[in-house]
Amino acid sequence: MGTLVLLSGGMDSAVAAAWAKRTLPPPYHALSVDYGSIHNERELSCARKIADLLGMEWHQASVVLPHGMASGLLKGHEWSQRLAEGEHARERGLPVSFVPARNAILLSLAAGLAYSLSLRHIVGGMHPGDNFGYPDCRQQFLQSMERALQLALDEYPLQFHFPYHTLLQGEGDAVEAKATVIRLAQHMDVLPLLKYTHTCYQGQYPPCGQCAACQLRAKAFERAGIADPLLTG
Ligand SMILES: [Zn+2]
Repeated sequence: MGTLVLLSGGMDSAVAAAWAKRTLPPPYHALSVDYGSIHNERELSCARKIADLLGMEWHQASVVLPHGMASGLLKGHEWSQRLAEGEHARERGLPVSFVPARNAILLSLAAGLAYSLSLRHIVGGMHPGDNFGYPDCRQQFLQSMERALQLALDEYPLQFHFPYHTLLQGEGDAVEAKATVIRLAQHMDVLPLLKYTHTCYQGQYPPCGQCAACQLRAKAFERAGIADPLLTG
C-alpha cells in the first residue's frame, strides 16, 4: 500500500497531491525531478514546500537529458525564446513546450521508487493530452505505461491515478482544464496551497506575466472567478 505523487511544483500536480491524500492510502511520498528545464530550480523549491505542507516525504531526482533534446523548456535550447514571447508556437505539430517522452521518463522513475518503497499507487497531474497537445498525457499512453512498468517490475501491482482524466474526460480547452484544477482546489479547501506553486516558463518569481504559461494561469483564475493566491499574497 502507500502512495507516491509525481510533484512538479506546478498547480496541476499540487492539487493532484491534495486529491491523493483524500483518496488513496498512506504513507504519502512525493517525487520531484530536475530534468534541466528553465523553471526547474524554482519549481523544485515549490514542490518541496508543497510536500511539506501536505505532510508527504519528499524525494528529488535529477536527470541529465542528452544535449540536443528539442524543447523550448530546456535550458539553452533555441526554442526557449519562442515560449518567452508568449505564443503557443508549434514544431512538427506539437507545442514547443513539449519535452519528448518526458512522462515516460518521469513515470519510470516513479515506478522504480514506488517499487523500492513498497508503494502501490502512483499519482500524476497530467491532463487528457488533447487539451494541451501533449501525446504523452493521453490515456492510451498512460495505460500502456502502467502495464509496461508492471511487467518491468515482475508483475508488481502498480496502479496509476490521473484525477483530471476522470474530471475532464478530454473535454474543453486548456483554459477550462486549468480552471477545473482551480475549482477542485477550492472544493477541497486547499486554495492557499496554490500560493506555493510555480507556473512561469521563465522560472521567474514573481512570475513574468507574459509567457504562455503565465497567461494561461491568469485566464484560468479569471474563468474560475477566483483570485490567484500567488499574486494576492
Ligand atoms: Zn511567465
